[in-house]
Amino acid sequence: MSLLFRLASRFVAGERVDQAVTSVRKLNSKGMTASLDILGENVHDKTTADRAVQAYINLLDEIHAAGIDSNISVKLTMTGLDIGDDYCLDNVSRILEKARTLNNFARIDMEGSPYTERTLKVFFELHKKYPNVGAVIQAYLHRSERDIDALNAAGARVRLCKGAYREPPEVAIQKMSDIRVNYRKLAEKLLTGGVYPAIATHDSSLIKWTKQFAAERGIANDKFEFQMLYGIRKGTQEATVREGYRMRIYVPFGTHWVPYFYRRLRERKENVWFVVSNLFKG
Ligand SMILES: Cc1cc2nc3c(=O)[nH]c(=O)nc-3n(C[C@H](O)[C@H](O)[C@H](O)COP(=O)(O)OP(=O)(O)OC[C@H]3O[C@@H](n4cnc5c(N)ncnc54)[C@H](O)[C@@H]3O)c2cc1C
Repeated sequence: MSLLFRLASRFVAGERVDQAVTSVRKLNSKGMTASLDILGENVHDKTTADRAVQAYINLLDEIHAAGIDSNISVKLTMTGLDIGDDYCLDNVSRILEKARTLNNFARIDMEGSPYTERTLKVFFELHKKYPNVGAVIQAYLHRSERDIDALNAAGARVRLCKGAYREPPEVAIQKMSDIRVNYRKLAEKLLTGGVYPAIATHDSSLIKWTKQFAAERGIANDKFEFQMLYGIRKGTQEATVREGYRMRIYVPFGTHWVPYFYRRLRERKENVWFVVSNLFKG
């Protein structure tokens, strides 16, 4: 195993599906559900995109056969968005058709802002036919309140996150304190007017706010779920379950882990510190 992958393996469940299944089994035994993500993005040729679609279809079979509690997360640029919207729509429909036969669910991850509009357009098309698909909204984007309103009106399930890409001030809020304010505003809309929202954050202040808001409004713990990333704040993940909340862990795996790994390093000094300190361990 390369040194870099050893370091990345805090955030990535492995390069193979059986390793990912083992990780999900462990999470399930601790009372957590999962969303499995096959790593990969920005595919520009049909052979690779078709292979990704088949890998997701096989993954749904693996989840079913293993009897683990996991849905899947899919990036549209991995399933052909850069090749064409209709091509991508057909590809993801194949995945959703399979998910439907197995009574499973797929989340469409949100990527950088050049893809937001097209991702949501494809999403709304998919959602007309497949209620077992959910969207992701990034709280740092100026446009997100409008998108949440449209998704709530369509009865779509939404995962709310801060947003992981570098975006310019014209499209995204830059200051963390302002992103938090917007996150709370959007979370309130989802918790009061959305369908089983996912509050995806490791941010203690937002987690605390969500718990308080839900308690004040009488929103039961099974009407929403918290979500966190594999390997980040494991103690908080487990403590949240012990408190009686639902917790789903996003579990990425596969050989294309470099962009994901670098996004994790860029967003938190704690993550860089973890990697650097491990470099000096024998
Ligand atoms: C389940 C899930 C799915 C996601 N899907 C997407 C997606 O589709 N598109 C997208 O753009 N982004 C996605 N993201 C990433 C997200 O947008 C953020 O980039 C990422 O979650 C970091 O923001 P944060 O709110 O978790 O906390 P941060 O702003 O990173 O951290 C807030 C606080 O959390 C604590 N903390 C965070 N990390 C650590 C750590 N390693 N150790 C100790 N304390 C820590 C610290 O107290 C810190 O001050 C997803 C995130 C999750 C959890």
